[in-house]
Amino acid sequence: MTATNTTEPFVVIGGDAAGLSAASKLKREAPHRDAIVFEKGSWVSYAHCGTPYFVKGDVETLTDLLSLSPSDIRDRGIDLRRNHEVIAVSPMEQTVTVRGPDGEKIHQSYGDLLVATGARALSEPISGSQLDGVFTLHGLDSAANVRAFLSDPAEFTVESLGGDGYVDEATATRYGAMTPPETVAIVGGGYVGIEMAEAFSAWELDVHLFQRSDHVLPPFGTAVAERVEPHLDEQGVTLHLGTEVAEFSGEDGRVDSLACSNGTELAVDAALVGIGIRPNVQLAAETAVTLGDSGAIAIDEYGRTSVDHVYAAGDCAEMPHVVTGENTWVPLGLTANRAGRAIGQTVAGNPTPVGRIAGTAVVKAFDLECGRVGLTNLDRARDAGFDPVSETITAGSRSGYYPGVAETTVRLVADRKSGRLLGGSIVGGDRAAIRIDTLATALEGELSIEEVERLDLAYAPPFSPVWDPILVAAKVLNGQISS
Ligand SMILES: Cc1cc2nc3c(=O)[nH]c(=O)nc-3n(C[C@H](O)[C@H](O)[C@H](O)COP(=O)(O)OP(=O)(O)OC[C@H]3O[C@@H](n4cnc5c(N)ncnc54)[C@H](O)[C@@H]3O)c2cc1C
Repeated sequence: MTATNTTEPFVVIGGDAAGLSAASKLKREAPHRDAIVFEKGSWVSYAHCGTPYFVKGDVETLTDLLSLSPSDIRDRGIDLRRNHEVIAVSPMEQTVTVRGPDGEKIHQSYGDLLVATGARALSEPISGSQLDGVFTLHGLDSAANVRAFLSDPAEFTVESLGGDGYVDEATATRYGAMTPPETVAIVGGGYVGIEMAEAFSAWELDVHLFQRSDHVLPPFGTAVAERVEPHLDEQGVTLHLGTEVAEFSGEDGRVDSLACSNGTELAVDAALVGIGIRPNVQLAAETAVTLGDSGAIAIDEYGRTSVDHVYAAGDCAEMPHVVTGENTWVPLGLTANRAGRAIGQTVAGNPTPVGRIAGTAVVKAFDLECGRVGLTNLDRARDAGFDPVSETITAGSRSGYYPGVAETTVRLVADRKSGRLLGGSIVGGDRAAIRIDTLATALEGELSIEEVERLDLAYAPPFSPVWDPILVAAKVLNGQISS
């Protein structure tokens, strides 16, 4: 790699988790170095993760979902340019071409460049996704539009959404004036679909959830799904499992029905499509940056891409997996922030690894909490060269006599030969999800199932039984391996 020209700025593409973490860290560690952040939209430093709870109404305004304001960011010494889209990167000249707010083209040189362009939600291949009333949830504008659509037109105002004046006013106003929906289809039973089922139910809509495979929450495995599905049913959500939505239809530009590949049809007046996301890699790919097998940007342990002085982090990049060691694409919030921060430190002259990922994820499904980490799918574990065995147990979350005890289901997967813990999942009602962090820590430490069984976990009746559900599961799985 050629030496960095530190008189040239650190240029960041993307003004959210990964991008701003990197720019902030650089300015703290090397205040003399210029940092410029180009963000194509108006929103910066926002929490995608809170948008389902904003739609539900638990979070009052979009302003609550903003972490740093533009002036906070500038106070950190970062040159923030909102409404500036980077449209080309030239690694030979070390410049980016940017389209400014009035369509003007700007050329900006860089010493180091971070691609932190995130991901985009898919709605293809479902036809009719452009109809009014069909949404994806990716970004604060989509959240604003869904909540405007749900609101009573007699009471709705754009100001009630909050958002410090950044809301796309024309679209939100149009949705706010429409007759609110009564029946909604959620397409996709991943974590966004499940969170949105709770949000729409809070607005007393008739909620139908369509999932192409046989179970919701595929990455969490069937032990979790088999508890979540009856719970969704109890909450009034109609599940259509093994059912693929093929098309939306409507008159006058607004959705009024959907049709599935198996012939099922349903009258709906709103739809939320949560069938997955794809990394935003077009810019990088045009720059000859190498992409990994997942289609996201391949990086090394310091977040460096295959092109000199070009880094990548967050939802557009792969990360090394704790269990397999292979670069894997798991687009989540902590890892975006953490990788961005590490790259800021590296660019400041202190090389810092971006860390590994375990695919640790948690989701709230009404009154149930779900968690997953590592390799939970046995076929995937076999493909990675392991001989996986698994056990599933259900145990109390607290001492049986203490009020609030809830059934907690834990499934653990370990390698038969080495005994190494490979992954696990959890579902239950009483702070079950956060217990997944014990397993994430065990995976990072590459513990065997025997070592997990011997962990000195906390016990007092209000928090846990003497034998934490994780210890019970480890004991049972270790017994199977040792027998
Ligand atoms: C509904 C929802 C719920 C979620 N819930 C959770 C959760 O509970 N837990 C969790 O861990 N994760 C969750 N996530 C994922 C988490 O939000 C992301 O992993 C995280 O935001 C990734 O940060 P990022 O900086 O890589 O990308 P982003 O936050 O997407 O930011 C990328 C930015 O780059 C900008 N950009 C793109 N291209 C250009 C360009 N050419 N020029 C200039 N700017 C550009 C975009 O406008 C965007 O602002 C959720 C995501 C969604 C959508």
